[in-house]
Amino acid sequence: MQLFEKLIEYPDAERRVLDSTYQLPVEETPLGEALGLVLARDLRATVDSPPFDNSAVDGYAVRSADAEVGRTFPVVDEAPAGRPAQKSVGEGEAIKIFTGGVIPDGADAVVMVENTSGWGESFELKKAASPGQNIRDAGQDARTGSEILRAGTEVGAPEIALAATQGYGTLPVYRRPKVVVLSTGTELVEPGTRDLAPGEIFDSNSYAIVAQSREAGADASRLYAASDDAQTLRAAIEEALETADVVVTSGGVSVGEKDLVKSTLLDLGVEQVFWGVKFKPGKPLFYGKRDETRFFGLPGNPVSAMVCFDLFVRPALMGMMGREDRKRPRIRVYFEEDVVNKFGRMHAMRVSLRKTEKGWLASSVGAQGSGLVSSLTRADALALIGPESEGVRAGEPAEAIVLREERLL
Ligand code: AMP
Ligand code: MG
Repeated sequence: MQLFEKLIEYPDAERRVLDSTYQLPVEETPLGEALGLVLARDLRATVDSPPFDNSAVDGYAVRSADAEVGRTFPVVDEAPAGRPAQKSVGEGEAIKIFTGGVIPDGADAVVMVENTSGWGESFELKKAASPGQNIRDAGQDARTGSEILRAGTEVGAPEIALAATQGYGTLPVYRRPKVVVLSTGTELVEPGTRDLAPGEIFDSNSYAIVAQSREAGADASRLYAASDDAQTLRAAIEEALETADVVVTSGGVSVGEKDLVKSTLLDLGVEQVFWGVKFKPGKPLFYGKRDETRFFGLPGNPVSAMVCFDLFVRPALMGMMGREDRKRPRIRVYFEEDVVNKFGRMHAMRVSLRKTEKGWLASSVGAQGSGLVSSLTRADALALIGPESEGVRAGEPAEAIVLREERLL
């Protein structure tokens, strides 16, 4: 067993994590899988979009010069979307056309069917037409060669749509980190498989961490929960280290006699960057690296694991993808009553938020025990209390990391 040598401050720990993460390589990623990833280079239009002049409405393509009210037009052909007309529009003639149909030669306007006597072999015009009316010009959305998307853009649904209009089947984006999640603890039972025997609990951390990893955009998978037996643990960690960019374990990383994660890691050649942060909840956090693989040993207490994930793992994963985290804004909050922090380390306090005329009012969600998973379902933010002070006074500002940014609306 080993005791903490030296606890570091939260900002120092955060900086060491960010300093040692790196951007993942660029991968041509299928459009359907690129959502949320960041473009690594500018994208240009490869074709005019739309590629040809086409109709914006259902109606008749005509020559605008002929389009006087009351005139009757013979319909000489048709141009539905995807099937250009064979004929061109001569003087006094019309071609039936539908939205997206190619504007036939000779025509310079489309009249809506609503402004005619209706569909038929011929029709009478009820409203005059001007040149270019109801025609969408080739290239009006994007011109061949023009820049359509910039490097650094986070790909959302509109970016996917725009790239698709240009025929891109894949996008050059920084790839998602592969995260392997491993719970440790002899007491853990897979939820949904059986009832608990005395001393057992259900493994919630690995499910929580996989969900959090996916929320951050990572490609996360769950390894089985390993018991605290040294050999089992070693085999599981070795397996995780083989395949992952980032390994996230929970439990077994404190100073108990059964806490073997850290010694196993060091044994497997993982270099310790830090172990122990002056921070609550989550003091025993371990962070290390082996070659390109990064390793987070989160504490076992579920709230500690999830809060440490949010504060340390999430920024690392996002950094690896070149993403900015817009869903964890930092805001100023105040409390209605004095808040004390006698822990001697920073307290990331679970709070709910309410907008008042004085700003954002934070209120503790209640008991702050690090095993109280239910408290996280009520937390809108983590208010950072300390470490320099022994708390904040009523009405004084404190910094908070918002967990549910929708609450700010
Ligand atoms: P440890 O850090 O391994 O000493 O665990 C601290 C506390 O967290 C203990 O009460 C464990 O039972 C609990 N714990 C550890 N791992 C998990 C897990 N995967 N899911 C839920 N609770 C856990
Ligand atoms: Mg344990």
